[in-house]
Amino acid sequence: MSDPILKLTGLDAFYGDFQALYGVDLQVAPGEVLAIIGANGAGKSTLMRSISGLTRNKAEMVRYRGEAIGALRADQIAAKGIALVPEGRQLFPSLSVEENLIIGGQVGRAGPWSLPAVYDLFPILKERRHQESTSLSGGQQQMVAIGRALMANPDLILFDEISLGLAPIVIKDIYKALPGIIGTGMSALIVEQDITKALSVSRRFYCLQEGRVSLEGVSGEVPREDISRAYFGVE
Ligand code: ATP
Repeated sequence: MSDPILKLTGLDAFYGDFQALYGVDLQVAPGEVLAIIGANGAGKSTLMRSISGLTRNKAEMVRYRGEAIGALRADQIAAKGIALVPEGRQLFPSLSVEENLIIGGQVGRAGPWSLPAVYDLFPILKERRHQESTSLSGGQQQMVAIGRALMANPDLILFDEISLGLAPIVIKDIYKALPGIIGTGMSALIVEQDITKALSVSRRFYCLQEGRVSLEGVSGEVPREDISRAYFGVE
């Protein structure tokens, strides 16, 4: 692999005394799309939170472009070019669509993503730009959350539960937009409940089980029964 943009080495994560991740090793190459799969409670969100600085780690457990960033705050990590699209979207409820997007731009860098580019990607957001974000449908709110992350012009974007709770037609729209996002050379980690979807959009995947990597491989090359075993932990 060329020099990884992101490298996790022996990443542990705790909530108080409870250990949620055990020694996770993971690498993402520049421009690579990785899927993270695993059952409820496997540690997928914790992994995303650890990378984006919402859960603090030992510095050297998370390296971004070679720099140990594991102990930095979330805002410092965002400024380096990592953006999170969080589970549950977490928009600013009293702000408009456009204000939510603009806030995303304030933590980031200059680059190809701007309000017009986000509105080109999701035209419905332009129509709704003056509405309060919470008045939108779940799918449209997810588009705002993605747009907000893009406005920071990240080099690495983390999608936590990209399609959870959304209507199938909206999921299709979101997935249709993905190549336009990733095609700009960004690397991406995608947490997705739907294994088939996860494998279809990614080059490689990691499966988590009870906080450990139970399987990793090239998407499409690993037999489904191996993935099911790694996912559910059944023999
Ligand atoms: P889901 O699909 O349900 O979101 P997940 O794979 O994202 O699952 P995490 O949310 O990372 O899993 O949770 C991993 C483990 O950590 C679970 O056992 C969960 O109960 C626990 N956990 C998560 N958040 C906290 C918290 N704030 N305090 C204590 N335990 C937590």
